[in-house]
Amino acid sequence: MMEKASAILTKARKEKRHALLEPESKTICSAYGIPVTEFKLAKDETEAVRFAKQIGYPVVLKIVSLDIIHKSDVGGVIVNLKNDKEVRSAYKKIIANVKKHRSRSRIAGVLVQEMAPPGTEVIVGATKDPQFGPTLMFGLGGIFVEVLKDVTFRIAPVTKEEASEMICEVKAYPLLKGYRNAPPADVGAIAKIILNTSRLVMEHQEIKELDLNPILVYRKGAKTVDARIILE
Ligand code: ADP
Ligand code: MG
Repeated sequence: MMEKASAILTKARKEKRHALLEPESKTICSAYGIPVTEFKLAKDETEAVRFAKQIGYPVVLKIVSLDIIHKSDVGGVIVNLKNDKEVRSAYKKIIANVKKHRSRSRIAGVLVQEMAPPGTEVIVGATKDPQFGPTLMFGLGGIFVEVLKDVTFRIAPVTKEEASEMICEVKAYPLLKGYRNAPPADVGAIAKIILNTSRLVMEHQEIKELDLNPILVYRKGAKTVDARIILE
């Protein structure tokens, strides 16, 4: 598994690429024990339907292109597809959306993936500080990071205790402990993801940015639904 991560990074370097595709980023994450949604890259509609059946409905379809960083901005993500017919029409729709927004994009295919059930959204990120090297970030998804900037940072590598501290430190932490109808989130699963991300960026210093956004956290376990890795 670890060799798989190195192989992807070596291939990208040879191709003088800085961005990794979502399936590449997720394969690397998975090799480091970070849970990700099951996925398969389809090259046509028929293949997309076959993969959807293998993965099991409902599924999500996403554009895979080196030219598209924010997939939903171009209509490149369609969630909650419940049958073959919906997969076929979503496939066509995604290709049409991408052609309309970015006609010159290179399209690697369409990613068919398991639809993760709703959960508490969190974000784990890593950047490379010119002075301190790999640095980790944690926050709750949506408005907490984007509007309130409620995030916390640590220089990598972190210990298990430091990973747990990061989680407790954000102002939105009480939301993870459960409130009203929302069940408590598996804080241990988040700490493990932070720890594994730390290991990943320490062992692969060529990673300039890493973004697990969002990770859905459940009463038990968590799942990364989007992963992005940028190389130096
Ligand atoms: P991008 O950030 O490039 O626009 P994402 O892959 O993050 O694209 O998808 C956009 C949104 O769609 C996510 O924030 C999430 O809410 C939802 N989503 C994406 N993939 C899944 C999935 N496998 N299961 C459930 N929801 C998903
Ligand atoms: Mg995303």
